Amino acid sequence: MIKSDKKPEPQDVEKFRHEFPMLGNADAPVYFDNAATTLKPECVIKAVEDYYYHFCANINRGLYESSLLATKKYESARTAAAAFIGALPEEIVFTPNTTYAINMVAASLPVLVGDRCRKKILIPFSEHHSNMIPWMNLERRGFYTEFIRVDQAGRIDLNDFYDRLDRTTAIVASSIVSNVSGVINPVVVMAEAAGECGALFLADAAQAAAHVDINVKKLGVDFLALSGHKIYAPPGSGILYGKTGLLEKMEPIVWGGGTVSSVRQDGFEPAAVPKKLEPGTPDIPAFSGLEAALGFVSDIGFDYQQYEKSLLEYCVYEMAKIPGLKIPGFVEEGTSFFNERSAIIPFTLKGWDCSELPVVLDKQAKIAIRSGFHCAQPFTCSLSPEGVHRVSFAPYNTKKEIDLFIGILAELAEL
Ligand code: PMP
Repeated sequence: MIKSDKKPEPQDVEKFRHEFPMLGNADAPVYFDNAATTLKPECVIKAVEDYYYHFCANINRGLYESSLLATKKYESARTAAAAFIGALPEEIVFTPNTTYAINMVAASLPVLVGDRCRKKILIPFSEHHSNMIPWMNLERRGFYTEFIRVDQAGRIDLNDFYDRLDRTTAIVASSIVSNVSGVINPVVVMAEAAGECGALFLADAAQAAAHVDINVKKLGVDFLALSGHKIYAPPGSGILYGKTGLLEKMEPIVWGGGTVSSVRQDGFEPAAVPKKLEPGTPDIPAFSGLEAALGFVSDIGFDYQQYEKSLLEYCVYEMAKIPGLKIPGFVEEGTSFFNERSAIIPFTLKGWDCSELPVVLDKQAKIAIRSGFHCAQPFTCSLSPEGVHRVSFAPYNTKKEIDLFIGILAELAEL
């Protein structure tokens, strides 16, 4: 993976913006909802289009040219995905999205954890429902979920984590970046502690993949899930990383074509992983798009993480000047707020609830933000019972866009 540490210049950002056709439209939005999904660059759209124009066929089946090419592209996407997160191709299972990937691991938890005494599942209180419900749902199978405490800013209380982690823990499942607070969780230390205790560790990288470096070996995780659509790729292209031995133990949630190597009337032989875990025909063009997207990220010619951080800091300080606006956990005099935080800002604005503010911002200036519980209801409710507004940046966003946003918020605050 080639990533640049070049200081971002305005012309780099302008060039980057030009890669996104939607931003070139006359009615282009100020898109501040990147935590929900990112916009797609030309190269990704082209990769998807190429499939329909040039090699539209199913994979793994046909021995004719277009089918062979479709299979080759699908497998080269797997190699690219593996390289992107520091894994081996055979450790990558393609899934529709993060939610599906986490459900796959949860469904196999009883076979993954041989020890019947291990029934505890630990997740931070701030998790997305997709990394919460699949675990809570295992109650029917004798497991129980405990929530690790987080503070008002969304930071995990590591002491509470260590107190709860013990030899009865089956798995610890944590996001790398929270989709509500933007906090980057201490996954390396948590995964290490879980390993020492004999527990598995799953990292939800849905919100992290486009914003922080991911290397499964350096993170020390057993499983990692991500969604292509949050890293410039099409919806339908998800990744589940698992250590080979663990993937082999897993059962598919859905059986059928592709998951078996031979079938008789009296039984069947499962295929080898990863095929065993990829039932039916996948979204083939989406994975072509994923390969293009991962190449695109690796080739961004400037330090986009530093640029996103500068947008975050600028926006937070400007927002803090607006009367009636609150950012959970932000205290103006301290800078620790910005440590270990990705480009997401949750906030409330006095007098403007979740059903009003996004509509007004859209109507007045085509500014797209998301408001509500962000599929993380327990944590979001603890910040504000009616939900919070959220802005989330990508490197195509600019300070000029932030100025427009701040100007409108300041006017609304006066009303
Ligand atoms: N985890 C986190 C942290 C997320 O932000 C999201 C999406 N908002 C998900 C899981 C679920 O992703 P998907 O809907 O693509 O499955």
